[in-house]
Amino acid sequence: MYELTVERRFSAAHHLRNYEGPCARLHGHNYRVEITVSGEVLDNRGMLVDFGPLKALCDEVLEDLDHRCLNELPVFATTNVTAENLAAHIFHQVASRLPEGLRMGSVRLWETDGSSVTYRERT
Ligand SMILES: [Zn+2]
Repeated sequence: MYELTVERRFSAAHHLRNYEGPCARLHGHNYRVEITVSGEVLDNRGMLVDFGPLKALCDEVLEDLDHRCLNELPVFATTNVTAENLAAHIFHQVASRLPEGLRMGSVRLWETDGSSVTYRERT
């Protein structure tokens, strides 16, 4: 099995609900995302998937989040914009766009240099 990871970045604002502390106030992050996909079959070029199209596919998803206040997006109308929920959202959005033969591995979302969350589904 092959695992392939691309790293992308986006910037967005959010605030936490049901939370006591500075993060309850509106603030921003420069998020870093590591998106890992997997598969077994290489194409006739010896590639699982070309990095370029995979990055473009991920950017399509992240474009909807970039330079937004995430709390204002319909998907987070009732869901708290935590790193956990954001990682899961990105996971499912990328998964729904993957070409045949590729599986989602994980989404690791770095909220700050020292803090990240990894979301993957049980197999
Ligand atoms: Zn925050």
